[in-house]
Amino acid sequence: MDSQRREFAIIADYFQRRAGQSTGSTLSENSKSNFRRQRNDVLIGIGDDAAVVTPPPESRIAVTTDTMVSGVHFDENTSPRALGHKLVAVNLSDLAAMGAEPAWVSLACSLPEVDEAWLKEFTAGLFAALDYYHCELIGGDMTRGPLTLTLTAQGILPLERCLQRRGAQPGDRIFVSGTLGDAALALAGLQGKLELRDATIDELQKRLFYPTPRVALGQLLRNQATSAIDLSDGLAGDLKHILRASEVGARVNLEALPASLAFRANLEPQAGWPLQLNGGDDYELCFTVPESRVGLLESLVRQAGVAVSCIGTIEAQQGLRFFHQNKEVQITGSSYSHF
Ligand SMILES: [Mg+2]
Repeated sequence: MDSQRREFAIIADYFQRRAGQSTGSTLSENSKSNFRRQRNDVLIGIGDDAAVVTPPPESRIAVTTDTMVSGVHFDENTSPRALGHKLVAVNLSDLAAMGAEPAWVSLACSLPEVDEAWLKEFTAGLFAALDYYHCELIGGDMTRGPLTLTLTAQGILPLERCLQRRGAQPGDRIFVSGTLGDAALALAGLQGKLELRDATIDELQKRLFYPTPRVALGQLLRNQATSAIDLSDGLAGDLKHILRASEVGARVNLEALPASLAFRANLEPQAGWPLQLNGGDDYELCFTVPESRVGLLESLVRQAGVAVSCIGTIEAQQGLRFFHQNKEVQITGSSYSHF
């Protein structure tokens, strides 16, 4: 074996999980595979030319891909464990926005060198997130090159319904899950643009490095929401995708933007709005619900243990408008002004 092949054999070792912790799938036992099967719908997983999976009857498959490039999407010193987690989280967040149940992922990595300590941490973060969401890594590809991580995630949808960006109707209420701006604030702190209170830094950085994809909420919204998107680039930009796809406009009440205690400990509400609207990396869901279903939605999400906030209303008039105390205001860059 030449040295490069040996290197890739070492890498492959980190992505193939040995049996022992197996969930006891008959398929993997029959095929004498010594690799651990996380899901019993994976007929052929890592180690063959392609993976083969068995979708449930009467289902559709949602597929999404996200790439993270060192120096573009993350700093080269970012913890590899966090990278493993975040790579899974950002892809599952896209599946959540479609209302899909995550099932299978494949990974393409370009790595500058074989760094076993890095690989150990990266795969620990990756597999912890995959296990939590009952997802299986079913294949991938490795090359040598600048650090680039690409994950393709597939999720299961029932035949009758998925969520999309289009479908919002005038009169629908606009909701977001969780809180907005925490990750952007953490990043501003790391970049030295803002000085953050010490007691809040851990919590804010957790939101930046270990985002929570709203997987359960997405599935719960399948029969309730008229449209949905996940917030990766910031509420203002992402909500505009819903507005364009649905051919509607919206009114957002700035005082309704949900902020965490850690966020509020650092910024007054008005100073925080630009970050909450444009910061990105929230991985919350933004979705629209007809007014007649708001009560039902709120009781469903309460049972699911997710916080959601109503931040505005869909309107027939195109465009995204911001209001503060019922007066229209303009947000430009990091400031806001009254019209
Ligand atoms: Mg998305």
